[in-house]
Order: sequence, then C-alpha cells, then structure tokens
Amino acid sequence: MLYFATPGVPRSTPGSGGTVAGLRHAHSLGIRAMEIEWVQAVPKNVERVEEVGQTAKDLGMALTVHAPYYVNLNSPDATTLEASKKRILDALTMSQIAGVRSVCVHAAFYLGKPPEAAYDNVRRAVESIMKLKQKLFPSVNLALETMGKPSQFGTLEEVLRVSKEFDLYPCVDSAHMHARTNGMINTTEEWNEMFDTYSTFLGKKSLSGMHLHFSGIAYGPKGEKHHLPLRESDARWRDFLKVCKDRQIGGVFVCESPEMEDDTLLLQKTFNAL
Ligand SMILES: [Zn+2]
Repeated sequence: MLYFATPGVPRSTPGSGGTVAGLRHAHSLGIRAMEIEWVQAVPKNVERVEEVGQTAKDLGMALTVHAPYYVNLNSPDATTLEASKKRILDALTMSQIAGVRSVCVHAAFYLGKPPEAAYDNVRRAVESIMKLKQKLFPSVNLALETMGKPSQFGTLEEVLRVSKEFDLYPCVDSAHMHARTNGMINTTEEWNEMFDTYSTFLGKKSLSGMHLHFSGIAYGPKGEKHHLPLRESDARWRDFLKVCKDRQIGGVFVCESPEMEDDTLLLQKTFNAL
C-alpha cells in the first residue's frame, strides 16, 4: 500500500490550523497520510502529541515526521553536534508517542571535508542515537534523506550504506536527486535503477515500506534552489508514478509541492487510475 501524504497541514484547513484539524481536513479530502513538519522545533507537549497520534489512528492515517532543519552530524563543534543529535532524538521520541512510522532528517553538510570523513562522522552520530532506540523510539525509523545540493551529505549510496548497517531505511527524495545531478534522475530507466540500488542494499522486501519524497524542483549547477508545483516543473511525475505502480512500491509518498494538498491529490488520483 502506498499512502500519499501532504507536507504538513493542508492549506485549505479551516480555522487556525493545527495538526489535529489538519489531519481531519486531509482525511475529508480523501488523503490518508501526513508528514508532520517539525522543521523549526519539536513540540514538547506530550498530551498534544498523543492527541495527534490518536486522531491519526482513529482516521486510519499513516504518519511520518520531518525532523528540524538545524542539524549537522558532521559538525566539528561539539556543542552543535550534541544539539543536532538531541533534536533528532527529540523528534524520534515524540514520534514514538504519536505512532509515527518514520522520521526524515537532513543529516549533514560536508563543510569542505572529503565525503568519506563526513560519512564516518554521520555514521558515528547515528550509532550513538541508535543506542537509545529500545528505550526511546522502538518502533520508529530514522530516515536519512537524499539531499539536493552537492555540498550536502546525502547521495543515495551514502544514506543506504548507513541505513543498512543500523537496520534502517532512508528517505528517498527523488526531486533532490534530480536537482543534485542538475537534471538527471527523471526517467523510467533512472528510477528503476534507483529502486534497484535501494533493494540491493536493503533487500527486495524493503520496497514495500519506503519513505519517499517527490515534487517539482528548480535547480542549477549547485543543485536544489527551491521546490515547484508539479505542473510548473520538468518532473516527469506521471512516469515516476508508473514506475512506483509497476514495482509495487509501498510506504508513505510525501508530495513536497508548494501546491500542498492539490498536488498530493493529483498524484494520488493519477496513481489510482493507472
Ligand atoms: Zn527534507
């Protein structure tokens, strides 16, 4: 089963918004998943997070979370590194309470260091986070995301390598891969290769429980500029949906378009009609 998710509370949610109202509204539109955007901060109010989880459960909606942006697991500064790990752990802990299945993270910047050195630092940080899994987030996946700029840690191979070692699965953001490569990863053949690589690392069964991001995207030689609505971009989104359908990809498919629920519904309807 592939659940199409909005990136946060739908724009058309009546009233003052909030995740609970957003879940109810998304559900009324026919959407069955949401990625909760804790990108500025992780909430501290346990009761409210429990209410989010209960609402999603009652509505039968799948949840993922986007962890805070202020993270760099390759930071040479001990304070920044510890603060980064804490933000990720807080997101994972609250996700456990809300019944979230997977939390995506922008792991690191290379900071001009060789990718292999950054890899070692990210790996070590993930190792220390994973020591607390049983205690704090036993049923939540930590998903390192494929990133859109060549200055960022997060090629597909990098995130798969760390994930495999710690029995995790990454967040595959195909739009970021498209931007990072200045226009590649936009054909049926390349997407099939992408899923082949994924299943080579994590096994064929892993394709039925993925954490995917997709949207239109503006890019240049330095990679990602910003996200775009599907129909204003060069993304061959119909072809991508076809590949997902043909390969029976399952999990949560977050549509990170500025058009929010409109593009999420466009993807969902197109996918269901295939
Ligand atoms: Zn992201």
